[in-house]
This record gives sequence, structure tokens and C-alpha cells, in this order.
Amino acid sequence: MKKRIVIALGGNALGKTVSEQAVVVKGTVKVIADLIRDGHEVIISHGNGPQVGMIQKALSALHAQDPENYEICPLYVCAAMSQGYIGYDLQKALKNELVKSGISKRISTLLTQVEVDSKDPAFENPTKPIGAYVSEEEAKRLRQTRGFVFAEDAGRGIRRVVASPKPVNILEIDTIRSMLDQGEIVIACGGGGIPVVKNAEDEYEGIEAIIDKDFASAKLAELIHADYLIILTAVEKVAINYGKPDQQWLSRMSVKEAERYIEEGQFAPGSMLPKVEAAMQFAGSGQGRRALITLLEKAKEGIEGKTGTEIVCC
Ligand code: ADP
Ligand code: MG
Repeated sequence: MKKRIVIALGGNALGKTVSEQAVVVKGTVKVIADLIRDGHEVIISHGNGPQVGMIQKALSALHAQDPENYEICPLYVCAAMSQGYIGYDLQKALKNELVKSGISKRISTLLTQVEVDSKDPAFENPTKPIGAYVSEEEAKRLRQTRGFVFAEDAGRGIRRVVASPKPVNILEIDTIRSMLDQGEIVIACGGGGIPVVKNAEDEYEGIEAIIDKDFASAKLAELIHADYLIILTAVEKVAINYGKPDQQWLSRMSVKEAERYIEEGQFAPGSMLPKVEAAMQFAGSGQGRRALITLLEKAKEGIEGKTGTEIVCC
């Protein structure tokens, strides 16, 4: 049966460098094309960690070399650039793949702004490390001149940290809906979206933050009334006691069970925890909504109920 599916692509679906990405996406779009050939309606979102890191590092290096001519580029602008760069590779590769099967569909990448709450507690406690390691002196300078926050990153040095607030709304959601109504394939909410807040003048403006792509994808799936949120990552299933001798792979998990596992600390923050939480949020947001976490290559089998971890409301 035809389903409306939001596919959230993880880092392994894109690769880490420019040339690697161009090659890796060719494999990724084969998986997506398979679902389209089966008649499903597909909306694609993706991560952007290494890509936005590269853009931000490059522009920071330019600023360090020649501060007169090159300003520091805000992170939300880097996020917009990364959506264009990744979206371009995906839309090109998917188009080429579909043409091979004689499928003619319009595919577009939509620069997507995702609204966050300026009072989100995440802003009080920035946790997401970004960009290059910096010296004490550089950190001090940027703290004073730019108000950046720095923290020790797992004993490896000092890095800038930014807040990771929760998405509350997607500004381009009506555009996404009309594109879907026209039967188009949309790539949206890349890298969790370009984070924006409403300012005192009631205008939207970019904010220095990174929204987790898993949460943004869940919000997207919720707002377009998707049937399925599929989070494609580097593991076939979610496990409890992950990496321990008594590790147990899960095929199905209710929201209630997931809550218990989270309390037990079963899912690593920053990797599996946001995926499970995003899946729970979507599965709990409406009747019949299901979320699946699995390997990129297993997406089709996962939808057929043959593998992956399904997260269901009850
Ligand atoms: P992505 O780029 O897809 O977001 P992440 O690296 O952020 O990928 O998250 C996926 C990783 O989470 C897996 O590769 C796995 O190593 C890790 N992980 C942490 N806890 C668990 C768990 N309980 N079960 C399965 N995988 C887990
Ligand atoms: Mg991740």
C-alpha cells in the first residue's frame, strides 16, 4: 500500500568529503528510488555534521587570514549553504537514478527554516561542539568579541559549543505540502533546518544553534501527516545493553518501553538517543503513525516489517 514516508538520512548516507559524497549518494538514491518505484511518496531529510563543519571551518580560516575582507560567517548561514550543497548532490543523483527506471518526477531541494523557541532551555546550556579546535587565546578573543561559548571536547581540546534547541515549527511547511500535493519529491529540513527565532519586532532571524536532524525530521513527518518516519543510520536495529555481552537487538519497541530504556540510559546521547526520542515523538503524535530505525540498505525490508526497530505508539 502506498505510504507517505519521511526518510531521515544519517552521516553514512552522505560520506564526509566532497568527492566521497558524490559517490556515496549514488548508492543512497538507489534505496530511495526503490521506495518510489514501489509507489511510496517520499520526503527526504538529512544530517549535515561533516558538511557544515567543513564550510564553517573554511570560512573561519578565511577570516583568520584576512579579517578585513572576510567576516565570520554565522552558523545559520553555513547551515543554509550545507542544505544547498547536500541537496544538490541528492537531487541530481536521484533524478539520474529515476530516469534510468523511466520515472519522470520533479525533485527539488527546499531551503528550510526551522523555528525554535528563544526560551528553549538548550540556550542556557550549549552542548553541541562545532568547528575546529582553538587555542585558549583564540577562545578568549572570540568569547569577548563574538560572545561565543567554548568548552572542553572529550579531553581533545577546546571547541566552540552551540545550543541544540528543539524544533517548534517549519516555516516553509505550506510550500512542502503543495509540492507533495503536486506529486513532487522534496528534500527538506537538511541538517535539522536553518534555525530561526522570532525577534522583538516579530521578524524571523537566524540564530546560532544546531537543531538535531532526527527531531526536525520527526516534526516534518508530523506536520505533513506522514505514515512513516524512517531514520536510516549505521545500525540495522536499536539495541539494549549496546556493545555489552548481553546486547539484545530490538525489533519493536512501544513508546512506554522506550521511556523505560531511556531512564536506564540505554541510548547514547548525541547518537541513538535523539533518534529514539524523535521516533517516539512521531509515533505518539497520531493514530497509526510508525517510526523505524534501520540501516540505509535495509529500508525496503524494514518497511515490509522484515527488519529494523519499529517504534509504535502502544
Ligand atoms: P547518524 O549519522 O545516522 O545520525 P549516529 O552516529 O549519530 O548516526 O548514530 C548512530 C549510532 O548510534 C550507531 O552507529 C551506534 O554506534 C550508536 N548507538 C548508540 N547507542 C545505541 C544503541 N542502544 N543501539 C544501537 N546503536 C546505538
Ligand atoms: Mg547523529
